Amino acid sequence: MPIISIIGRPNVGKSTLFNKIVGRKVSITEDTPGVTRDRIYQPATWLNYKFLLVDTGGLDLKDEDIFMSSIKAQIDIALETSDVVIFVVDGAEGVNPTDREISNFLRKTKTKVVLAVNKYDSKITKDNIYDFYELGLGEPIGISAEQGTGVGDLLDEAVDGLTPVDELEE
Ligand code: GDP
Repeated sequence: MPIISIIGRPNVGKSTLFNKIVGRKVSITEDTPGVTRDRIYQPATWLNYKFLLVDTGGLDLKDEDIFMSSIKAQIDIALETSDVVIFVVDGAEGVNPTDREISNFLRKTKTKVVLAVNKYDSKITKDNIYDFYELGLGEPIGISAEQGTGVGDLLDEAVDGLTPVDELEE
């Protein structure tokens, strides 16, 4: 099954998006199968595509350097193991220096990256959206992980190029 990973800084809305897509509430700290210390995965479907959705979390470190190196470690794993990476940023906050660093990293990879600008339910995000073109990751897709708006467009873009289930079964 193809793997789609959700990455981004803490508090941008990764878990909210993950739960929206898989359609049920799973906590990253919950002690259930499929949950390890800092990542959680669930099979998910969109249209006639099936994939394993991975949420990368567990990055709540105070020290700036440790934080950056562990975020990079998470990204490395995501890039190595995923067919598609959804990079979530906080649109209400605007373009952030850490997002620029992460983007520099992501631009060098061959893995497909889709840029999700979350919190598009606020006016400030709508005003900020075009600023995210500067990250050089293509068209920023405005989403509200909480309300679900834009998530369909995001998934359309994420699954584009994956093999649909009907072709797999033939
Ligand atoms: P994570 O640390 O990246 O997994 O972020 P969470 O999913 O835990 O969300 C962090 C915070 O952002 C929470 O307080 C959420 O309620 C808030 N949040 C998440 N998605 C949205 C959204 O679409 N709109 C708004 N306004 N807030 C959101």
